[in-house]
Order: sequence, then C-alpha cells, then structure tokens
Amino acid sequence: MSNSTENATLTSARLDAADPLAAYRDRFFEPADGSVISYLDGNSLGRPLRATAANLTAFVQGEWGSGLIRSWDEKWMDEPTVVGDLLGATVLGAAPGQTIIGDSTSVLLYKLLRAGLDGQAGRDEIVIDRWNFPTDRFLVEGIAAERGAKIVWIDPDAATGVTPEDVAAVIGERTALVLLSHVAYRSGFLADAPGITKLVKDAGALMMWDLCHSAGSIPTELDAWGVDLAVGCSYKYLNGGPGAPAFAYINSALTGRLQQPIWGWMGAANPFEMGADYEPAANVRRFITGTPPILAMQPLKDMLALLAEVGIEAVRSKSVALTEYTIALVREHLVPLGVELSSPLDPAHRGSHVIIDHPRFAEVTAKLWEAGVIPDFRPPYGLRIGLSPLSTSFAEVEAGILAIRGVLASMS
Ligand SMILES: *Cc1c(COP(=O)(O)O)cnc(C)c1O
Repeated sequence: MSNSTENATLTSARLDAADPLAAYRDRFFEPADGSVISYLDGNSLGRPLRATAANLTAFVQGEWGSGLIRSWDEKWMDEPTVVGDLLGATVLGAAPGQTIIGDSTSVLLYKLLRAGLDGQAGRDEIVIDRWNFPTDRFLVEGIAAERGAKIVWIDPDAATGVTPEDVAAVIGERTALVLLSHVAYRSGFLADAPGITKLVKDAGALMMWDLCHSAGSIPTELDAWGVDLAVGCSYKYLNGGPGAPAFAYINSALTGRLQQPIWGWMGAANPFEMGADYEPAANVRRFITGTPPILAMQPLKDMLALLAEVGIEAVRSKSVALTEYTIALVREHLVPLGVELSSPLDPAHRGSHVIIDHPRFAEVTAKLWEAGVIPDFRPPYGLRIGLSPLSTSFAEVEAGILAIRGVLASMS
C-alpha cells in the first residue's frame, strides 16, 4: 500500500465517523456474502430498504390477502394521491392535491407534454436541449410530429449544461412549453431551476422539469418557484425498486385547464358510474388513466418515511460531501492516469453523481462489475459514479475509486 492510499483510507474512515447520517446506511439491504464491495449506481437503481422486505410481505398477507377487493374502497383508490402528497411534502415542495403516482416517467412525460402543448392555444414551439435523456427527446419528437409543433433545440455547452441565457435566447411568443432536466443524466449538471422557470413563465410559456436525477437527493420548491409541470422516477434516489411507478406534478393553477390525452376510466370524474361519456375528474386525478400500480408503489412509501425522518436538506448536504470527496479522489488517483473529470466542479451546479471519461471505461466497467464494484457506463466513454446519500459511505467511494485505478493500471 502506498502512502497516499493509507491517507485516503484514513480520510474516508474519518469522514464516515463524522457523518451524522452514517447510521442510516444500515437501513438498506446488503447481501450478507460481502459480494458488493462498492455500489456506485444508486442514481440508476436505488438499493432496497430492509423495511421493504417485511412491509411487502405484510402487504401481501394483509391489505391484499385479507382485505382483498375491499382494500380498493378502503385505501387503494386514494393511494396515488396520498403517496403523491407525501412525496410533495417530503421532497418536492408541493402542497397537497398536485402530485400523483402512476405510469412510467415516459408515459407521464407524454401525457403532460401533450396536455401542456394543447393547453397553449396559439403557441406551437417546444423547447428542449440536445443533451436531454433520450426518452425526453424522443417523446418531444413524437408529439411534435403528431401535433404539427416545432421543436426548438438548445445546444448547451456539455460542460455547463442548460443556462438561463441559453433559454432566454430561444423563448418567445411562439413558445408553448420548455422541457428540461433538473440534473443532467450524463454530466450531473444542476440547472438553475428557479431562474429558468421565472424566465419561461414571464414569456407566457409553461415550464416542465424532469426530476428523475434529482428527486430524493436534491430539494426542490416546485410551488415557490412557480413550476407548471414536473415528472420524475421513483426507482433512482427514491428507492422504489425496478420499474416502480413515476410521479407527476401539475400546478393547481393548471389542473382544471389541462386535458391529458389518454382518457381512461380511472381519470374520469366518477369511475364507477360506468358512464357513456368521458368526463375528466375536476382534480389532479384527471391525469390518471387506468388502475393504479398499488403493489409497485409500496417500497416508495418506505423511502419517503425515511426521507421525512432525515430531512431532504440533510440529504443534500451529504450528497455534496460525497461528490466533493469523489472529485478529490479522482484528481488524486485517476487524473494522473489520463482520466478526465466531466462533471461541474462547483457543487452548486452539480447533482448527486460524477462522470469521468477515459477511452477504456467500457472494459473497465465490465471488470469492476465482476469484482463487486458497481458504477455504470454511458457512451462514448463515461463512467458514472452515482452517490445515493443515505446508502453510500465514504469508504465505499474510496474503495470504488481505488478499484478503478487498479483496473486501469493493470491495462496499461
Ligand atoms: C431515468 C430517466 C428516465 C426514465 O424514464 P422511464 O420511463 O422510467 O424509463 C427519463 N428521463 C430521465 C431524465 C431519466 O434520468
């Protein structure tokens, strides 16, 4: 072991010892065989909470197995808005009555984009950036083709992400809505959401944020910022499990005015009337389409309870400490091997992951996975290090960076 390695080890041990949230890591499941050395992909799939295993069993035996169909009347019909309100209060900065859980992010993006565009008579432009997540871009392209709208592309600096200046340069009287990611999935750039939202609203357009890479790790104030629409995943920093349903936020000022395009009985004013014509619910339930995914939204409730206990501001502080430490270790151990740091260096402009680039990172990632060190790879040659604040330790970060160094060194 070299001296610098010993120093890093000391530092990670000291950082973990001083971390007020360190003990929460034990709330998450870890395989007993020690096969996972370092999990650095909580931004793609959060770890399960230990409580979730027990609560799912209790759900199967209780609400489902014993309550049977009665549970729909007693509880489940309201679950999409009850859990949505909890998410709104704990993480989003949203008052009750504006958030629902259901569908996938892609489907909710479709519904809200269509509703927003159709609700902006006389405006036919959708603004999005070229670095946005593929599903966001594809949906905008599909909807533009379907509705004869025009797409206005922002081509941001890859290193900085979309700035208020980028947005100001393209919005105007024809802008119907603007769709941006709060945290860029690749670079980790954290957009100035309040600043951009204000610009967009002042231009008479609707602002829609994709919160997939921020919800659960970065506080938002959707109501206070005046955001119109937002969507996000619950399987990333919200630990809802693979394919867990997404969430949608619709500002109450818009609820009655917007009409979503997938008319189903569960979004109707009175689903059990079994009526002849579709009349949408007057409240946020009008954005629901079919039977809500009750079983799949149970694990999310466990994570929301934990986030309520810890507080989202404390979570953000740890996230910043983790990404700062990651960057320091990358500089010390990987930059000398030719690795490039491609995330913003200022934590005020950075989400909860860090991306580093090297031409051999596809091979490196495959070798790391075999060894129980688990980041992910994003083309052309980015290795993404996701720091899920409540389940990642500083020691894990250090073990991960040293493992990357070891694999890279063995290849050269
Ligand atoms: C993860 C992610 C998605 C995923 O959408 P799904 O419908 O859940 O597959 C969408 N947008 C962004 C920005 C993401 O990070």
